[in-house]
Amino acid sequence: MKNILFVASECTPFIKTGGLADVVGSLPQALKQNEKMEVRVILPLYNEISIEHRNAMEYHSSFHVQVGWRNQEVTIYSMEYNQIIYYFVSNEYYFDRKGIYGYYDDGERFVFFSQAVIEALKHLDFIPDVLHAHDWQAALTVALAKISEPIHDMKTVFTIHNLKYQGVMPLGAYHDFFDLPTEHIAGLEWNGMLNCLKAGLFHADKITTVSESYAEEIKIPYYGEGLHPVLLDRGEDVIGILNGIDTKEYNPLTDPNIHVNYRSSKVRKKENKMFLQEKFDLPVNSDIPLYIMVTRLVEQKGLHLVQHILDEFMQEDIQLIVLGTGDEEFETFFSEAANRYPQKLVTLLTFNEKVARQMYAGGDFFIMPSKFEPCGLAQLIALQYKTAPIVRETGGLKDTVQPFNEITNEGNGFSFLNYNAHELLTVLRYSLKVYSNQEQWSQLLKNINKCQYSWKESAHKYANLYEQLIPIFV
Ligand code: ADP
Repeated sequence: MKNILFVASECTPFIKTGGLADVVGSLPQALKQNEKMEVRVILPLYNEISIEHRNAMEYHSSFHVQVGWRNQEVTIYSMEYNQIIYYFVSNEYYFDRKGIYGYYDDGERFVFFSQAVIEALKHLDFIPDVLHAHDWQAALTVALAKISEPIHDMKTVFTIHNLKYQGVMPLGAYHDFFDLPTEHIAGLEWNGMLNCLKAGLFHADKITTVSESYAEEIKIPYYGEGLHPVLLDRGEDVIGILNGIDTKEYNPLTDPNIHVNYRSSKVRKKENKMFLQEKFDLPVNSDIPLYIMVTRLVEQKGLHLVQHILDEFMQEDIQLIVLGTGDEEFETFFSEAANRYPQKLVTLLTFNEKVARQMYAGGDFFIMPSKFEPCGLAQLIALQYKTAPIVRETGGLKDTVQPFNEITNEGNGFSFLNYNAHELLTVLRYSLKVYSNQEQWSQLLKNINKCQYSWKESAHKYANLYEQLIPIFV
């Protein structure tokens, strides 16, 4: 039996801001089918984690870590949830705050978290063979594991869920937060700054990212976010493994959040559409094509393209519901647009899992024209709820959505190549044409019904990777 410890800053069902949480929540569940390994997960104990979950936690251990001159107390709690053991790193000063990111000292908070995880390795009732860290907030655990070797010959995997967020701090943070010899600066430094993500890329035994296309894309400047030379250097050690989704969790047949459960029934899906139209004061008519967006309102998601062509698209006989939170620029834009088209466009500036699922269930089309997309889970959830994704051909979107081809009848959605608003508009109009052609629309839904995006295959790939790292895997 080999032990794998996941280190991350979010994880469903405890705390979520995006796809990272879904992956860290569902991948251990998929890996647990493999009897040769045990996966446990360690997370920060945020104030936002519900009282129900907190009540289920048990005290595990406590100790101190030095964040430079700061002597910080750490308490580890643990709990079992769905047969996985979770550890939580508690410290009031760093984590007893509203929300989970966006503080001036986020860098210091996750330096602390990483140091606490490394120190915790001496206290846990679990000795990892592989430490598997996710995104910049956990990246320093990989560096510290290599530098200070808390466990002899522990291997490390670092997964990039999004290269854009790197945890960059002034280089002075190296001496301010760490008590490490100067020779290690080079591994943590990039462009004159301390860069947590670079530290992970530099030190990890293997690097994975969440789709094959993104694994290639990030080696070129357009997608590399300034780190492409580091990724090029790591060459064959950078592997793309497509994310899956928890198909039990996202199942329209059993999802208690949606109005009417369904497997593939068009009639029942239309009932969900009418429920949404009624709920959000849109004209109730199941024939009107309903487009939805569930997204962080940030540039990455291709919202500038939507901004450009929205007024033109709104001339069509359609409805659009947008659910999201994020940058003020986009929040204002979509609110104002909703005022201009009260009969057609609804903007919901909130994070709401239940409404999101009702939208996946009621929508006909899911718009996701990302500028870049490491994997994207939203389009997979849409497919699971039989909602046709409309995407830009990048990263995981390219690997999971094949454009509908009316000649060969293949394809599970719609896509366009260039980051160009009128290419998006053209494909949106094409989607309307397919919707109005009963035969083609039925064919597209048939193709969507055949899609499989569970974790099964990808979990195998992760297991193989761990096996490669620990050859005597018994
Ligand atoms: P990212 O991680 O870049 O935000 P993904 O597509 O990988 O994008 O994952 C986004 C996840 O967050 C999906 O599960 C999506 O349904 C969910 N989500 C995004 N915005 C909201 C929102 N406002 N309310 C509820 N769920 C949301």
